Amino acid sequence: MASLRGNWNYPTAVRFGPGRIAELPDACKALGMKRPLLVTDAALAKLPMIESAVAACRSAGLACEVFSDVQANPVESNVTNGVSAYRRGTHDGVIAFGGGSALDTGKAVALMVGQTRPIWDFEDREDRYTRVNVSGMAPTVAVPTTSGTGSEVGRAAVITDVRDHTKKIIFHPRMLPSIVIADPELTLGLPAKVTAAVGMDALSHNLEAYCSPSYHPLAEGIALEGMRLIHDWLPTAVRDGSDIEARSHMMAASLMGATAFQKGLGAMHSLSHPCSANLNTHHGLTNAVVMPYVLSWNRPALGEKMQRLAAYLNLPQQSFSGVLDWILELRNTIGVPDTLAELGVTSEHADAFAKQAFDDPSTGGNPVPVTVAEFAQLYRNCIEGRLQAAT
Ligand SMILES: [Zn+2]
Repeated sequence: MASLRGNWNYPTAVRFGPGRIAELPDACKALGMKRPLLVTDAALAKLPMIESAVAACRSAGLACEVFSDVQANPVESNVTNGVSAYRRGTHDGVIAFGGGSALDTGKAVALMVGQTRPIWDFEDREDRYTRVNVSGMAPTVAVPTTSGTGSEVGRAAVITDVRDHTKKIIFHPRMLPSIVIADPELTLGLPAKVTAAVGMDALSHNLEAYCSPSYHPLAEGIALEGMRLIHDWLPTAVRDGSDIEARSHMMAASLMGATAFQKGLGAMHSLSHPCSANLNTHHGLTNAVVMPYVLSWNRPALGEKMQRLAAYLNLPQQSFSGVLDWILELRNTIGVPDTLAELGVTSEHADAFAKQAFDDPSTGGNPVPVTVAEFAQLYRNCIEGRLQAAT
């Protein structure tokens, strides 16, 4: 096995490789932190991983405290409480440490410690990010512990608005963490089910970015290689969680997905967000379920692209069907349910969620336009297990 280690400088400074969590205190100091607030979720906070990170920071002279009031699909109060903890402890930087929920909350706390406006004023619409007081933002080190969301290299945080049960994307270009420590050893303990679900989130990012019609060859190239790594390594990472080579490639693919999706996402994320916001379904798992239905729907726009993807992945059939078969087989191998019904989504939900899906910012990136009525049809396809192309 070649050395799976590197220092990358795009999309941000990434220290990649097994064991590199040892560099956390150095990374904080490089950003001028003396009193970092480590933001993580309550389950992770109890694990030795966090304990030893905090101990390492403290023995390096950093006054590090932990904030762990972070729920899955985080809400505004998680951010507000984090901001209070930051101010109370007179912190001077954030370590966002964990899966997507912890990373997003950490990044949102780093944004909000410098603002006086409410968080929803910074939703990713029009040019609202220009309202941000940039000088008040806290520097951030991000440490992912799952390989899926890629939030460590993203410029946004997804926060659920409990007033209308929608997931809102809070965006500012400077929310991109200044330093990422990507240490695949931190993912060795992830259960197979979680590995599968978050790995499919990474696939959905690379795939939706690749399918999105905007002109962005950089992102498209990254997405292709990201999908190859997932094709080659996700089944192994799920089957044998201790395989550090598989874990390394999945962590890279996760970073690549979030780098690529600056190009755009699509209807997989549009359909998935209302399910998580209303029923608290797992983001990656929901994407995994809807993936073949959305891909089939988009088929009329994807012929040539799917042929190129199939060729790059060296699939037995170098066509749209080859890619679809691969995804169906992959879902089956790693234990993803076949329909949204298995996640508790019913046909009664379809109409209500369709409007939210239509309004989701991801919708604009879908390769074929989708109306509210078509989103309702797509939900029914995902619930009833019907692969159908847009007409
Ligand atoms: Zn996602």
